[in-house]
Amino acid sequence: MSDMNLVVVGAAGRMGQTLIRTIAATPGVKLAGAVERKGAAQLGRDAGELAGVGNLGIAITDDPLSVFAKADGVLDFTLPAATVEFAGYAAQARIAHIIGTTGCSDADDASIAAAARHATIVKSGNMSLGVNLLAVLVEQAARALDAGDFDIEVLEMHHRSKVDAPSGTALMLGAAAARGREVALAEQSVRVRDGVTGPRQQGTIGFATLRGGSVIGEHSVILAGSSERIVLSHHAEDRSLFAKGAITAALWARDRKPGLYSMRDVLGLN
Ligand code: NAP
Repeated sequence: MSDMNLVVVGAAGRMGQTLIRTIAATPGVKLAGAVERKGAAQLGRDAGELAGVGNLGIAITDDPLSVFAKADGVLDFTLPAATVEFAGYAAQARIAHIIGTTGCSDADDASIAAAARHATIVKSGNMSLGVNLLAVLVEQAARALDAGDFDIEVLEMHHRSKVDAPSGTALMLGAAAARGREVALAEQSVRVRDGVTGPRQQGTIGFATLRGGSVIGEHSVILAGSSERIVLSHHAEDRSLFAKGAITAALWARDRKPGLYSMRDVLGLN
């Protein structure tokens, strides 16, 4: 089979540049386009040179439709509004759209689901094998440990530039805990605590967010009982972890029928 032609959107971002470097080092995939927003300082520059892997002959453009038309898939770690727009273009081009963007609202997710009628979309708050496996373990632990005795808290830390909170991964892990407990996360989650909050309400799933420095992604799910505590953790050590996962997802999605899939589908963890 010929190499899979991939477009990276948000090509000048932290994940965009990591994706370009990882594509260059991965057999079976090829960079076919690189997109940034209108007015970005990097427009016209070579995507490979910007990412530090030498000239790839791919100039960064602000015209997604023209590059999507020639591609088999799009790797997207940008912002929710941009991702919704790209999902529409991926549907028009009938190609794979791998979405790592976090912080999407319910309305954004509804637009993405609509685009998945024509595009093959894989969306995940975390593309790593380790976190997706962790989510399976969290679901099992939450099911096995009684809500009457074990309180669940999700703790995360990321670099100082992250714009959404809690992280997409923290929400994924919270959703896994809620599935294990057979409750709706939206009804049980406590996203912020401040002031005189009163005692902890039984059965709730709490979130705590730390921000600072250059931390790539630290997540712990704490199951705190009255006489013991279990902590399930994941530490991301390099962004290429997420880029490799996104490329695995793209290769999995190639020639698969349109629909909305998750990394659990890609990794066979369902
Ligand atoms: P970042 O460095 O800010 O990169 C985002 C890039 O997207 C920026 O270059 C931004 O350009 C660009 N962009 C924004 N709007 C655009 C548009 N309309 N068209 C084209 N490009 C556009 O952020 P990051 O750290 O790479 O993270 C990006 C997203 O991925 C975040 O939501 C983050 O939480 C998520 N993430 C997910 C995973 C996962 O495994 N799922 C892992 C890591 C990160 P400007 O800066 O010029 O606006």
